[in-house]
Amino acid sequence: MTNILFAEMRQETASFNPYPTVYEMFQQSHGQQLLEKYQGTKTEISGFMDVMATRPAMKLVPTMSAASVSGGAIPTDDLNRLIGDLTASIEKAAAETEIDAVYMCLHGAMAGETEDDPEGRLLEAVRAIVGDVPLVASIDLHAILTDRMLELIDIVIPFHTYPHVDQYETGQRAAHCLLKLIDSEASPEMVTVKVPLLVRGDELITETGKFGEAIRMCQAIEASETGLAAGVNIGNAFTDVPELRTNILVTRNGERETALREARQIAEFMWSHRELFKAELISVEASIEVARSTDGLTVFSDAADATASGASGDSNEILKALVQSDFEGPCLVPVVDQQAVSMAVDAGEGARVSVTLGGTLDPGRFTPLTLEVEVLRIYDGHFTYENGLPGFGGRVVILRHENIDVLVVERSLFFVGQQVFSSHGCNPADYQIVVVKSPNGFRPYYDSIAAAICAVDVIGSTSANLRSLPFKNVARPIFPLDEVTFEV
Ligand SMILES: [Zn+2]
Repeated sequence: MTNILFAEMRQETASFNPYPTVYEMFQQSHGQQLLEKYQGTKTEISGFMDVMATRPAMKLVPTMSAASVSGGAIPTDDLNRLIGDLTASIEKAAAETEIDAVYMCLHGAMAGETEDDPEGRLLEAVRAIVGDVPLVASIDLHAILTDRMLELIDIVIPFHTYPHVDQYETGQRAAHCLLKLIDSEASPEMVTVKVPLLVRGDELITETGKFGEAIRMCQAIEASETGLAAGVNIGNAFTDVPELRTNILVTRNGERETALREARQIAEFMWSHRELFKAELISVEASIEVARSTDGLTVFSDAADATASGASGDSNEILKALVQSDFEGPCLVPVVDQQAVSMAVDAGEGARVSVTLGGTLDPGRFTPLTLEVEVLRIYDGHFTYENGLPGFGGRVVILRHENIDVLVVERSLFFVGQQVFSSHGCNPADYQIVVVKSPNGFRPYYDSIAAAICAVDVIGSTSANLRSLPFKNVARPIFPLDEVTFEV
């Protein structure tokens, strides 16, 4: 038997969101629970498990998973407690069973209020327990790869799609790489080229954009005889830590020189197209005009308050503009606001109340908006996302102000797909404007029903207008914040 330990830690931090991600916001699963949670889902862990199931000699040792919706930086005590829990769980498993290999499922863009590299710290603890056994890690392509992480992982396997639709396949790729290490078929040479580049915009969409060309170079490397893993990690532009940048990763079996040459080529490609990797935003007024002249649904992407990128979700900027405009078509807008939910629940379904919406979590950016609303419906907030994983927004209410339905949740959710709305009785196809809090991840879910899409230019802690954000820690100079001379 070969015992393969695995664990998961994931959250994406937006440093400019003042609302912290605390310990309690991490959903935890332990031991067997972990297998049950992920079985049959479209996730990295299920892809990993399915490949391992084809090799009867491989025994999975599940330890612990901790996953939170994206959000502000994690307070020091909470992060210490979380990493302590994970470490204790791994220590316990390793005391009971000899561990032969490790799979770590990470997002990779976490930051603590005082720790710039939580994943590196966890990996250090894991290595201290398991020693020098084969260790692979799958990561989001928005991960921030630190030198410490690169040192501790044998092979890093990044996502290849944006919007992300290849989580399951990434888990499979991780499993195949780990099996090659276990079978002693590979001696990985992992090279990284660091590029001082932060990217945004539509050209990142891998199916249609320039970035996709770079990813296809990576896929060709993986498909070649000695190719193990390759990717372009663009980092989460809102995680303001020193090692935030774009990293090109190429891992080959032996053949370090080839890997280095290829990584440099891809770095050169990304750098030479840097001007393309900026977002083109349009004003909220112009967006409303687009909706007015569009037959059918216009999706407003509020990337500046993208909870998926780590923003607070309490922006009411677009809501305000819709209320003030004379647009009369049905609109659907999500907002995180615990007090508004409480007030609506107290009033009850069918009641008419005056509530303030938004501006409670990031009050430095947003000011509360007072509206007369009807409480249409009240929910317990439990639902299932498109990927099969559970979502929980605390209590959820649907409030109606004239032509605008507002989905108000107590706790941050991913406002990316349609399920978050349709599970609460709001079918996106029935509206003329739907606001999603997502820069691009919403596209696979809305392509079939959206007649138009507007990337709306409003303020927020995850604005695609990077120069509007108060970066303090990222190593400078970096494009597009600064003028940079860079030679690959
Ligand atoms: Zn991502």
